[in-house]
Amino acid sequence: MQKVNPGRLLIQAVVSIGLFIGLWKAAALINWVPREKVDALNARVESRIGEMVWGIYERSGRECDQADVNEAVDTVLRVLCKANGIQRGHIKLHVLVKDEVNAMALPDGHLVVYTGLLLKTDNQAQLAGVLAHELAHIEERHVMKKLAKELGVAALTSMAGLSGSAEAAREIAEVIASRAYDRSLESDADAKAVEYLLAAHIDPNELADFFMEMAEQGNLNIPDWLNTHPSTEGRSERIRELTAGKVPGKPAFGDEVSWKKIRELLLE
Ligand SMILES: [Zn+2]
Repeated sequence: MQKVNPGRLLIQAVVSIGLFIGLWKAAALINWVPREKVDALNARVESRIGEMVWGIYERSGRECDQADVNEAVDTVLRVLCKANGIQRGHIKLHVLVKDEVNAMALPDGHLVVYTGLLLKTDNQAQLAGVLAHELAHIEERHVMKKLAKELGVAALTSMAGLSGSAEAAREIAEVIASRAYDRSLESDADAKAVEYLLAAHIDPNELADFFMEMAEQGNLNIPDWLNTHPSTEGRSERIRELTAGKVPGKPAFGDEVSWKKIRELLLE
């Protein structure tokens, strides 16, 4: 048996503790510095990619120049943001004049809504439902997750660096528009939309109705974002299940003012 030297044991203990603290501090530093850098890089990449992709959509139509229409859509969006602690300033809302029934979330908080969709909804709660779904994609950063998965972070970062590259922008936009949208992301966005709507005292059953109405029409008007698995019927059913027993009693906006105003202005 080796003889234990208490002095040496003490020195060893002090050295070990010192080493442990040193390593722990170093590890904390290693974790902290790159993480911050990565976040900063992500924000820059996302902002650049958002700009590139929005550029494509912007050129595909024209932005609605009726200030009252934009304001009315914004009013509905604000109700959702306020009830859910989402900073309205992070969302870049664009109303595009297009007959297509569509809405989409793009990177960096760009939320695009077509006038065709605004006119297709039956009431304000349906419009709020669609906005809530897109808002969920934005808040959960689904688009960037999808892009990172399909293109890889390195490629995405270098594409964001290709300033003004129309080809890179098109490639990114194609991935965003592809039907390969993860079914789990769609389910997540639906579930989150139900939460957002309930928090704002808006009945999510209206979103379920809208999905069903779109599915029943079974024609070319079915937008990409509805043409997913699980089926539209399945999604509609799930929204009803998630809503069951939770229907809000008193709506935050008890009237249809914004929605009616949008219709009147667009149809005049
Ligand atoms: Zn979606």
